[in-house]
Amino acid sequence: MHCPFCRHSDSRVIDSRTSDDGLSIRRRRQCPECGGRFSTIETASLNVIKRSGVIEPFSREKVMSGVRKACQGRPVTEADLAVLAQAVEEAVRQTGSSQIDTNEIGLAILGPLRDLDEVAYLRFASVYQAFDSLEDFEASISQLRADHVARAVDGDS
Ligand SMILES: [Zn+2]
Repeated sequence: MHCPFCRHSDSRVIDSRTSDDGLSIRRRRQCPECGGRFSTIETASLNVIKRSGVIEPFSREKVMSGVRKACQGRPVTEADLAVLAQAVEEAVRQTGSSQIDTNEIGLAILGPLRDLDEVAYLRFASVYQAFDSLEDFEASISQLRADHVARAVDGDS
């Protein structure tokens, strides 16, 4: 890592700490030549293979913008979206592969989005799973209802 001040080709790590979400490491570095201090942030690379075949780095912002559309008019805040995007990133990183396709991201979004807002979930699922009939919506809604009943029963015990 070159020093950003004097371009010296070496630097010394003076402090390392893991971010709160455990997904990156921040290192404080010092240049032995000019004494300048700077930070680097290290994350394991995670790439997304898009349907077009294009590969790009995973972006929480893209997850958020995809979900934000489904949440229009719903009581979902930007903070909720940020938490969801973090959960999605953790889920896809847990698969252990450094390349995932957009399909896997869609799948990882469904669970946390369902917990967040069921209407937004149905909207997102209808696009992502390409619902093409009322029956598809009915099946999803029946599933949500069945789970509500299951949860209510659990609550009684
Ligand atoms: Zn330097």
